[in-house]
Amino acid sequence: MSSLTDKQIKRYNRNILLRDFGVDGQQKLLNSKVLIVGAGGLGSPVAFYLAAAGIGTLGIVDSDEVDLSNLQRQIMHSTQDLGKAKVQSAVETIQALNGDVKVVPYNVPLNEDNANEIINDYQLVVDATDNFSTRQTINRACMKQSKPFIYGGVLAMQGQAMSIIPGQGPCFSCVFRNEPPDNAPTTSTDGILGAMAGAIGSIQVAEAVKILLDIGTPLVGRILTIDLMNMYTDQIEVKADVNCPVCGNG
Ligand SMILES: [Zn+2]
Repeated sequence: MSSLTDKQIKRYNRNILLRDFGVDGQQKLLNSKVLIVGAGGLGSPVAFYLAAAGIGTLGIVDSDEVDLSNLQRQIMHSTQDLGKAKVQSAVETIQALNGDVKVVPYNVPLNEDNANEIINDYQLVVDATDNFSTRQTINRACMKQSKPFIYGGVLAMQGQAMSIIPGQGPCFSCVFRNEPPDNAPTTSTDGILGAMAGAIGSIQVAEAVKILLDIGTPLVGRILTIDLMNMYTDQIEVKADVNCPVCGNG
């Protein structure tokens, strides 16, 4: 007996048909709680696709407001949302898409003081931030709570992603130890194609769904890189570091 309603069976039909998915997989997603840190270029496709897939609870952390310069890539927000808190705009967009999803907005920056408490309510975290120190904060909290998180980064027409599952491979800090220099390029200096964020955000969603359902092979110990300008993809093998200050003995 399925506990899904007839409408849910219809809405999620194309999920349910997927190999290793089924009604049980859909039920599992509807019972899942995922936190997205960032409601911008990556957070938009991540939140949209996770909501469409029927993730039951989506927490979204962002303290920014919607700016005209965001709309070229942050597809969760529209012209009518200018000046609104991004999390408010996100709640409205997601609710219009799928009423099955409970959205919990956090209109704050994620930091060392609140990360553990916020992440505590979720089983998986998607990194949709654009800065190194917040990623380190997510990494520390997720390692401490033994929760997976999906890293994604985009700049110009290049992007990369990796899944971090505690105990199964390197953490973020094993691979990215040092703060980038102050003059390192950012999307404010080098730009970002909206579709680049869409590509990496979509990969993060696929990883999140696979990890929640324990299906397929997650992107653990491998950094996937995509170069849209020349249309190359690559994978770089990375290993856990026994001297890592977060997950090792360092
Ligand atoms: Zn580590």
